[in-house]
Amino acid sequence: MEILDGRKLALKLKDGLKTEVAGLKAKYGAVPKIVNIMIGENPDSSAYMNSQRKAAEYIGIDYELMALPLDVSQEHLCKLILGLNDDDSVTGVMITKPVPKHINFSGAANLIDAYKDIEGINASNIGDLLLGNQTLIPCTAASVMEHLRSTGVALKGKEVVIIGDSQIVGKPLALLLLRELATVTVCHIGTSQAGKLVEHIERADILIVAVGKAGLVKGEWIKSGAIVIDVGINEVNGKIVGDVDFEGAVTRVAFITPVPGGVGPVTSVMLMRNSIGAFLKSR
Ligand code: NAD
Repeated sequence: MEILDGRKLALKLKDGLKTEVAGLKAKYGAVPKIVNIMIGENPDSSAYMNSQRKAAEYIGIDYELMALPLDVSQEHLCKLILGLNDDDSVTGVMITKPVPKHINFSGAANLIDAYKDIEGINASNIGDLLLGNQTLIPCTAASVMEHLRSTGVALKGKEVVIIGDSQIVGKPLALLLLRELATVTVCHIGTSQAGKLVEHIERADILIVAVGKAGLVKGEWIKSGAIVIDVGINEVNGKIVGDVDFEGAVTRVAFITPVPGGVGPVTSVMLMRNSIGAFLKSR
């Protein structure tokens, strides 16, 4: 059994990106520049932003946080985005969630130039993912794929069960795994309500859980020798835990990601990788 150490993997990937950025600087005399738009102060997102900033600094990417007041209008936000699209010094743009209720997030995110959409979430990039074209991939899904790659296990023909069908995790992951010729099942709230979640979990060679419910997956349901990637982040009695009962699972699996220290640290590195991809598209 191996616990997949996300911090170690993140460091290895960051070192690779650092070398790549040094090469870009030598070749183009410029480095990627990210602008992260944040609306209002948000303690929930500040941890992720800190890790983004640190990763950017380490790799040599310029990172600017654009803090907007909580009452910013949709119109003002859209104008700002269009300005960033036109600014050649900015190669990547993102909007940190959550946003206030009066803001239409997907409307704003879809205005970001597809080449600068470093979170890989606008309709055009998701469309390219579906079509199998080269594109900017949603960062959490990319992080899961890096963890799977790090196991060295071939994905072709494996029974992969994903729990959670969100636009940033479950759906893009299903598409990425199909590209690898895995057999993919996507479960969600409807699967649980039909009483069928356990039967899907039990046959998974690779189980990916992205729901946000502590203890949703019991160790005893997991197939012996499975790979388990736990994306969930939950706070229970002041402690951060995933969606999988780690103690119950760890004795049965071949590989498992811990929470914290698994998928999370690699996610911000994937944002940096996309930023390099976006920079290259701008050349
Ligand atoms: P979401 O809220 O958009 O979607 C949740 C999904 O879970 C939906 O598909 C829903 O149908 C499904 N679901 C809800 N209850 C269920 C149940 N009882 N049985 C089966 N499926 C159920 O979620 P999201 O934004 O993808 O985030 C999921 C989790 O992953 C959250 O805990 C979030 O904090 C975490 N997350 C972690 C990272 C990271 O980098 N580590 C990044 C993004 C999200």
